[in-house]
Amino acid sequence: MSQVRVRFAPSPTGFFHIGSARTALFNWLYARHTGGVFVLRIEDTDKERNSEPFLNLIYDSLRWLGMDWDEGPQVGGNFGPYLQSQRGDIYREYLAKLKAAGRTYEKDGAVWFKLLGERHKVFDEHRKKEVEKVKNAPSVIDDQIRGRVERTEDEDFVIVRSDGSPVFHLCNVVDDIAMGITHVIRGEDHLSNTSKHVELFKAFGAPVPSYAHIPLILKQNGPGKMSKRDQGALIEEYQRRGYLPEALVNFICLLGWNPGGDKEKMPIAEIIRLFDLPGVNQSNARFDDKKLAHMNLTYLLEQPADRFVVLARALLERAGAKAALAADPAYLREVLLISQPKIKSLEEIPAYTAWFFTEDYPIDPKVREKVMGKGDSKARLTELIAALPGFDFTNDSAIEQGLAALAAKHGLGFGDYQAVARLAVSGTNVGPSITTIFRVLGRERTLARLQRLLA
Ligand code: GLU
Repeated sequence: MSQVRVRFAPSPTGFFHIGSARTALFNWLYARHTGGVFVLRIEDTDKERNSEPFLNLIYDSLRWLGMDWDEGPQVGGNFGPYLQSQRGDIYREYLAKLKAAGRTYEKDGAVWFKLLGERHKVFDEHRKKEVEKVKNAPSVIDDQIRGRVERTEDEDFVIVRSDGSPVFHLCNVVDDIAMGITHVIRGEDHLSNTSKHVELFKAFGAPVPSYAHIPLILKQNGPGKMSKRDQGALIEEYQRRGYLPEALVNFICLLGWNPGGDKEKMPIAEIIRLFDLPGVNQSNARFDDKKLAHMNLTYLLEQPADRFVVLARALLERAGAKAALAADPAYLREVLLISQPKIKSLEEIPAYTAWFFTEDYPIDPKVREKVMGKGDSKARLTELIAALPGFDFTNDSAIEQGLAALAAKHGLGFGDYQAVARLAVSGTNVGPSITTIFRVLGRERTLARLQRLLA
């Protein structure tokens, strides 16, 4: 069999969303699984609606998600140019072939594609006018996901508008032919175009590619297709929020694809190994932001220290957390690493760690009221301040032993000191364990903070 050549063919008319990412991913996975070629082709013929920032967003998002393209803009290839706006000559050349074969005619300034078959006029109720219908044989599409689909085109259609610009159907098919595309993997919303495309392939005398139409992604709540405007639809939002691209890729591949068994979290090499088109479901997939958040968290927890620090620092930079970034790097690293197992996502990092980097941290009034209003918190604080200079600060368990000994001396429990100590050193009631906080802050800083609350 000849080498698989697939393409992702986005139009830069809007933000890069989950649906586009999934179409790109299924193409990319199929190419990597089969040892084929992944082509990026930009369908930017609609001058009014295309924009440079959206184009760059496609490149950035694909790269961020780890989908490298073998041919396309910025990387080149033997079948370029890869932007449709630069392929006008190629469309004209192919159009001439259709003309020569007698498969076009002009009407109202536009160029029409002429179907083969017997013609007759019928009154179209919907359009309230007489139209010409063609008795045409159905196109059989052996879709790798949908199975056998039969559709019949029975009306000629426009391929070049009256302003001279080629229509999507023409560009799409010409490029698939000229670029040697063997498999067309795209959203189910294009299934209705496929019989037109098959007619064009045949008219050009070109082999029809193998089709795989991917089911829709339904919005999280309620009926209907997820759109770019839905909450959680945009890829750049996850990038900004510090989501891990590999977690997002793992989540997206499961939108409509079933790897078999109850496998969910998988390294990319395994996804590539298992991915195949027959494994893609016919039924629609539903977006689920909780599942995505959970997938991201699983990946976050297992990040090696160095990478976690890099990712967390990026978030601090974006949040403008100056104090944290100005801190001693070893101290910052330590704070980030003790927070890693505690947070639900990286975007929590700036707020979660803020009080480590300033002595001017706010004391949550609600927590203060609750903690100080209970029992003898003030007495506990005084005892703790008195005992702290005698604590061994070398590690967490030494500090824990110090606290336990202090509690025993007063006939109390560890817990009696915990809430007030936490309030004093952090101003909150959340954070890493109190012994860890003490160790990382160090004796001096801890003591000063305890004294500050007492005052
Ligand atoms: N430019 C089309 C789109 O963005 C792609 C069509 C195709 O994949 O064939 O939906």
